[in-house]
Amino acid sequence: MAGIPEALEQVRSALHAALDLDPPRGLGDDELLVALGALEGVGRLLDAHRATFAGEVADRSRVELGAGRLSTRKGCRSAAELIERVTQVSGTEARRRVSVGRATLADTGLTGQPVPAAHPHVAAALVAGSLGLDAAATIVRELGRTRTVADPTRLDVAERELVDQATGTGDAAPVRASADELAVQARAWAVFLDQDGTEPDDERAMRRRGFRVGRARDGLIQISGELLPEVAAKLKRLLDAHLSPRSGGGFLTGAERSDLAVQAETRTTEQQRHDVLAAIIDTAARSGEHPSIGGAAPTVLVSVRAVDLETGSGAGHADGVELPISLRAVRHMVCTGGIQTVVSDAAGRIIRLGSPERCFTPHQRRAITLRDGGCLIPGCTVPAAWCEIHHVIPDARGGPTHTENGVLLCWFHHRTIDSSGWGIRMRRGVPEIRPPAWLDPGGSWRKSTTSPTRLADRLDHDHAPPERKTA
Ligand SMILES: [Zn+2]
Repeated sequence: MAGIPEALEQVRSALHAALDLDPPRGLGDDELLVALGALEGVGRLLDAHRATFAGEVADRSRVELGAGRLSTRKGCRSAAELIERVTQVSGTEARRRVSVGRATLADTGLTGQPVPAAHPHVAAALVAGSLGLDAAATIVRELGRTRTVADPTRLDVAERELVDQATGTGDAAPVRASADELAVQARAWAVFLDQDGTEPDDERAMRRRGFRVGRARDGLIQISGELLPEVAAKLKRLLDAHLSPRSGGGFLTGAERSDLAVQAETRTTEQQRHDVLAAIIDTAARSGEHPSIGGAAPTVLVSVRAVDLETGSGAGHADGVELPISLRAVRHMVCTGGIQTVVSDAAGRIIRLGSPERCFTPHQRRAITLRDGGCLIPGCTVPAAWCEIHHVIPDARGGPTHTENGVLLCWFHHRTIDSSGWGIRMRRGVPEIRPPAWLDPGGSWRKSTTSPTRLADRLDHDHAPPERKTA
């Protein structure tokens, strides 16, 4: 008997010969659609085996096997990556095959007794060629979310009904549901099953908690998840604490809430929350207070070609994010986090490695905090601890990484400082700001600080009796 690869090669060449079809252009409409459906049926049969083999690869790569994992032995981090390497499918497709394959893999236990698949109805319909991989993945994904909380008998009923809907069997389902329609039904089942959970709410919540950083879409990364109530409460508190006065969340006093500051706020509440989140993340990343590149654990490495940074065309690339980073964002990150030059020759060999530059030290930061108090832009309530240090004169124009050239700006006002029109300059070591023309035509330079000690100094200077005045 021939082995599986030889048998599959026979199938492949037989299919190749058999599928020497006439071009669909010559078919009538109905014939075209019938043929389309029949072709899908052939594809489904192959998909079923793709999933089965992916499931086997995943089973041999399961975490408990440690160094003996198949994926590890082949130099891959996961079964999905190994499948990607062998088949050249996308990561998404590889993960989909793994999830369906594992969920439909029947096994034998330690004592030789058969262990049924986690989703036996899906498994049977797949092998019969009546269920597509799309639909199978949907059922496995949606029901999988409730697996830990739902009653097994009800879960089994849900799975069978969903498979019936997808394959058009049973009284309730005269028409086969598409994968998208199935997703809607499966989610409804998931909610229903979850309510049946017998565990206390808290334990159920603990199991269901999660946070996902999603895939790129329209130049942005979507996040989603389920937070425990107490975590959500803290997050909400943080997010709301520094919304601008117009949005009602800020804690400026009436006198401080100048018209200028209110007008200056052009962001929506959602955008402001995003920016607060950016500050929270930066603050956490900075908590080690090590001004190093690649040294501290939460440092993000962004690579950019020197020529792109100089000419302003091209993009940067961050570790672990598929989207490119705009040069404006790269300049912002360089200004905040420093830069390290790596020079390589034409072949790619590193011929010069610079040391990290442009990083403010923790004690420079403390001094600047004492002087500026918080974000310099009037009306902005982001506190010093959440601010970044901006080089007033950029490094490229000879600006030093020195307290007399560094000022506090929040993430948003730093990110937009080149385009917002706010002017910042240093006069004898003291920062001055000038509002954009659209806010204050002909506006003048003024000092800006929210530092309590500096404000006390100013009051002393302007109002104290002569004997209290310092030199
Ligand atoms: Zn600000």
